[in-house]
Amino acid sequence: MAKKFEEFTGSGTFHRGIHPPERKDFSAEAPIEAIPTPAEVIIPLQQHIGAPCKPLVTPKQEVSYGDLIGDNEAFVSAKLHSPIFGVVQKMAVTTLPNGRHVQAIHIKATGRQFTVEEMHRECMGGRWAKSVVGYDPDEVTQAINEAGIVGLGGAAFPTHVKIAAGKKPVGTLLVNGCECEPYLTADDRLMRDIPDAVITGAMLAGFAVNVKDIIIGIEENKADAIEKITKAAAGTAVKVAVLKTKYPQGSEKHLIKAVLNRVVPLGGLPADIGVAVANVTTMVAVARAVIRKMPLTHRVVCVTGAGIVQPKNILAPFGISYRELINFCGGLTKDAARILSGGPMMGFSFSDLDMPLTKGTGGVTVLTHEDTKKEKETTCVRCGRCVDVCPMNLVPARLAVAARHRNLNMAEKYKIRGCMECGCCAYACPASIPLVQLIRVCKAMIMANKSNK
Ligand code: SF4
Ligand code: SF4
Repeated sequence: MAKKFEEFTGSGTFHRGIHPPERKDFSAEAPIEAIPTPAEVIIPLQQHIGAPCKPLVTPKQEVSYGDLIGDNEAFVSAKLHSPIFGVVQKMAVTTLPNGRHVQAIHIKATGRQFTVEEMHRECMGGRWAKSVVGYDPDEVTQAINEAGIVGLGGAAFPTHVKIAAGKKPVGTLLVNGCECEPYLTADDRLMRDIPDAVITGAMLAGFAVNVKDIIIGIEENKADAIEKITKAAAGTAVKVAVLKTKYPQGSEKHLIKAVLNRVVPLGGLPADIGVAVANVTTMVAVARAVIRKMPLTHRVVCVTGAGIVQPKNILAPFGISYRELINFCGGLTKDAARILSGGPMMGFSFSDLDMPLTKGTGGVTVLTHEDTKKEKETTCVRCGRCVDVCPMNLVPARLAVAARHRNLNMAEKYKIRGCMECGCCAYACPASIPLVQLIRVCKAMIMANKSNK
């Protein structure tokens, strides 16, 4: 049995937030499938938070699966490896769905590649030890750095850096299995399909940061994942906390509040209060890196929504195009209207399907015209709903006014930097004011203003 949240310090939930339609049924019952190797991959040199990698390959050079092709010279950066056998074609700038332009290595596939069965077995198969016996914490950290692992829940923060930050005394490793974003099911499927790998990775990461407690938080709408993870954790030090379903439960700060009843100070980090947080997908990558010495070259990505013919959870190489992912799912439906990298709450809308998949992307959601029908924007009626749902205790209506007037001082006064861009305010607003979009633009203006000084 999973440990109920009553047995933890937290209440199993947090203040405010929303309950959007979950819509996970499109892909939740689709087991993870490997996609055939694409003809080309485009590997951006910066697909993580921190400094870009230094390329280690040149055009016409042959590369093998798993070869190191980009090195992290800076501490806050992550190594890159080739996800296929091939030949480097060129170095060229590519654009990512979030609008960033980054230098990238283009690799054309040549020779024999892994079959889908071999790739599935290579990344997910076999037995997982569920033990840290015989390992050294520094060896674990080193393996994580060598494998180029970043936070796969979306933040893409280099994991070896997080572990080093955790060398401030850390009491608890909190593993995030919430996947609170509507539609997405990649984490859910990993917990259901390879629960032993999640537990093994959590034990190794907890060992590296020398924690007392390891807790996996899962929302109660994932009954099968709760059962499988609880069974896999039996006899280990890993505990399972079953949490109430609410968006954005998967945000680090709200997960900590829900499980441990502790508050991360505004502008602070979980490590400041003795907690390290990592995603379940990251834990699988850690297990693979430490036990099998394999780098991070693939991830599970959920391609879903009413605009996709056959939604799937796909094991895919980094650098594959969104077009290939969508084609593998039978393509777009006739009424597909908007493609998002990520889910509908925090994802980025984009239209160029030839952009590459990067480490931090766990989902592609395609919405239809029906899904995207919008009420016309009207004026603010001062109902306060945006305030009632904001999980960061901000006043989104005031931030929107500041954004519209380009009043950056006012935006700072109303703590715009505390906004996590969860979108709860825009979702709740009866006047259909694009609150989060306005806040995003205002934050960008503040950043631009700062770098011009
Ligand atoms: S102001 Fe920011 S943190 Fe608050 S609800 Fe809106 S998007 Fe979320
Ligand atoms: S929810 Fe919308 S209408 Fe209501 S106060 Fe906030 S911005 Fe104004």
